[in-house]
Amino acid sequence: IRAEIQKSEKLQIITQLAASIAHEVRNPLTVVRGFIQLASSTMDEQNRRYMHTAIEELDRAEFIISDYLNFAKPELDRLERVEAGDVLKHVTNLMSSYATMQGAALSVEAEPGLQLMADSVKLKQVIMNLIKNSVEASSAGGGKIDVLARRSGEHVVIEVIDNGPGMTPEELERLGSPFYSTKEKGTGLGLMVSFRIIEAMHGKLEFWSEPGDGTTAAITIPTR
Ligand code: ADP
Ligand code: MG
Repeated sequence: IRAEIQKSEKLQIITQLAASIAHEVRNPLTVVRGFIQLASSTMDEQNRRYMHTAIEELDRAEFIISDYLNFAKPELDRLERVEAGDVLKHVTNLMSSYATMQGAALSVEAEPGLQLMADSVKLKQVIMNLIKNSVEASSAGGGKIDVLARRSGEHVVIEVIDNGPGMTPEELERLGSPFYSTKEKGTGLGLMVSFRIIEAMHGKLEFWSEPGDGTTAAITIPTR
């Protein structure tokens, strides 16, 4: 029991530290990004390419911070009626340039008029995490990521399907454990946070995967 208490205290300290660092670091990053963008409009081709790389790295930092911020704030604000198509459109707008930069093709398809009960900000964050993982998984090139929403009885199912390298049963088993990451610069927090968010929305997050055969992540959420 003592070990458990120490563990949860440690987790709380990490959480608070992460939240304050994330908050403080995010603002200057946004400012730097803006100025780089502004300055690069007056530059020649070669320098613009350098600035493009700089912005890519800033965006990567922003993603890492997002993982931590969510880790710090898993509680839900409120559930409201949202339309699946709107959520997916917004998320894919945000993610498509990131996917393109990494050489992956992102496509979306939602049945029209699909309503669900969710905290839309948090739901978008989860879908972004899933898409980000799919993009990263297909970093070798030729990535194809399909995001689908359909009704299934009293639920809406949102799937993120990729053609990446997939996972072994052992790897699947470990998804969502804190700090589990196979990436050199991963946080191993994205899925832990995602599982918690979806659970709090009375939904579930499931994965299907086989080595060499891509991965499907499915979010199931009640329609009301
Ligand atoms: P991070 O992305 O920071 O590594 P996550 O919690 O988002 O942390 O993911 C944990 C691990 O799960 C990843 O490092 C990766 O090994 C594995 N994973 C998640 N999604 C996929 C996917 N679509 N294809 C292959 N592996 C995945
Ligand atoms: Mg991730």
